[in-house]
Amino acid sequence: MANNHYDAIVVGGGAAGLTAAIFAARADCRVLILEQKDVLCKKLYATGNGKCNFTNQFWSEEYFRSSTQAVAYQRVNRFSLADTLSFFREIGIFPKERNGYYYPASEQAASVAEALIREAGHLGVHTKTQRKVTRITPAKPKGFQVECGEETFFADFVVLATGGMASPVHGSDGSGYILAKQLGHTVVTPLPAIVQLKAEGSCFKTLSGVRLEGSIRLITKNQSFTQAGELLFTAYGISGIPVMQVSRYATESLYQKETVTAELDLFPMLSYQELCEELSSRFQRRKEDTAEEAMCGLCNHKLNYVILKECGIDPTKSCSTFSPKVAKTVASKLKKFSLRITDSNGFANAQACAGGILLTELTEYGESKKLPGLFFVGELCDVDGTCGGYNLQWAWSSGALCGTEIGGRYASNITAKAKPKS
Ligand SMILES: Cc1cc2nc3c(=O)[nH]c(=O)nc-3n(C[C@H](O)[C@H](O)[C@H](O)COP(=O)(O)OP(=O)(O)OC[C@H]3O[C@@H](n4cnc5c(N)ncnc54)[C@H](O)[C@@H]3O)c2cc1C
Repeated sequence: MANNHYDAIVVGGGAAGLTAAIFAARADCRVLILEQKDVLCKKLYATGNGKCNFTNQFWSEEYFRSSTQAVAYQRVNRFSLADTLSFFREIGIFPKERNGYYYPASEQAASVAEALIREAGHLGVHTKTQRKVTRITPAKPKGFQVECGEETFFADFVVLATGGMASPVHGSDGSGYILAKQLGHTVVTPLPAIVQLKAEGSCFKTLSGVRLEGSIRLITKNQSFTQAGELLFTAYGISGIPVMQVSRYATESLYQKETVTAELDLFPMLSYQELCEELSSRFQRRKEDTAEEAMCGLCNHKLNYVILKECGIDPTKSCSTFSPKVAKTVASKLKKFSLRITDSNGFANAQACAGGILLTELTEYGESKKLPGLFFVGELCDVDGTCGGYNLQWAWSSGALCGTEIGGRYASNITAKAKPKS
């Protein structure tokens, strides 16, 4: 075999590409990974705050979002949680589970990246870094021609594993969509997912840095989505896991030019009625206290100040002047702090990308129905998981299914060639 000819070429050496390469190479395929960055798995090192939340005990369709969600869930299930854990045990990653979230016992994302890279190396997978693939064309009589700069490679199978557009500093710059479109595939508009949200209002400069247990109800034209957990105010809007979880619905609606609102419950410990009573007693306790002093110890002092301002109440005003209505007004504001969402914090700060290659144009193994031999895996596809290890799970599942299919097809080609002609 010429040294630029391989059985399979994987474009993109991230989580999904490495997995596809490993499974194909386990069936003795000669595999080449072409990666535009100087190292493999650059994004993987940054996952889970450096600890890599690589999967989750809880699986259901709602965790794998897509314009064809049932299809996505069906496919991810073909390489299950048990398959994932056993694959990682095989390559040396001992799993550690916390509230259903799986991490490597080392608590180091680097160990997951290194285990994958080492396994690929042991299996003889060739790797060429600093190679940006710019063109892929079907070759005659079969296979594909893959171009990067001056170099050209050939293979029977090509796997596009270039990621989406989230966090382009790690290599996923959207070039995979261009290649996919050149090859006749439909790309569902890529939008930031798992991302912070920008909101209208002047309160954020004051609130920036305030964290609290609360909940968000994101309201779009036709739907609403609620998530609870730690909210974080930033200088431009809101962040925190609950915000990130609903963000893809905000980016989708904003893209459609629809109005998006967020209603925050900033004091979930008490019902509206209980909060009214709490505030009422605080405002009546010491008449000489200012409004701000009366609220001290209830919420973060910056939040107390902003809430009073937003209610049109001077924080320095004495409570002695308050009518019983004031407690109700303040309680309403704390239970339903309404924000107009204007934008997301963009792909640069997103952890995932919604949209991508339409799954219905691909087989259950990620193979193109238009160009057999061409596969799509990982975040490049129209699947975005929620926080909790679901994006990496999609990378492992789609990569393993594709690699296994390539390995099986390679083996049957070899067997067919070896059969004596009758
Ligand atoms: C900060 C951060 C934290 C995250 N934490 C988690 C987490 O804890 N759990 C979880 O499940 N998910 C997490 N994610 C999401 C998860 O990392 C991704 O969904 C996953 O890495 C996608 O894998 P992939 O292989 O499809 O794409 P990528 O990891 O993006 O890899 C694609 C690769 O293709 C290369 N490439 C692109 N175009 C070309 C080209 N034209 N030629 C050659 N190479 C190319 C890129 O350089 C890159 O190396 C996190 C993401 C970020 C940004």
